[in-house]
Amino acid sequence: MCRTGCPTQDHATWGECARAANLRVAYCGIGGGDATEQKRWDNDLALYRSARAQGIQPDGTTRPKVMAALKASEQAGAAYGRDFSAAAPMPEGA
Ligand SMILES: [Zn+2]
Repeated sequence: MCRTGCPTQDHATWGECARAANLRVAYCGIGGGDATEQKRWDNDLALYRSARAQGIQPDGTTRPKVMAALKASEQAGAAYGRDFSAAAPMPEGA
């Protein structure tokens, strides 16, 4: 059930595989509170690219939209925007 781009190919479910990749990206994004605007932009793009690499098609490149797509994909165990799409409202405070 691994994504084609998964380096380890040892995950039981698509969601687990996606979560492992997402955690790696999220971890890279935690650099302390001194991130510049450019760095934040780079992190958003990296997150977006990670989503696209998993077949997910977020509604936009901004972090809240990408995170919403990732969350929806993980909950559904499928790629948002490719395998399904939902007109679900954005989570509060995202
Ligand atoms: Zn995997």
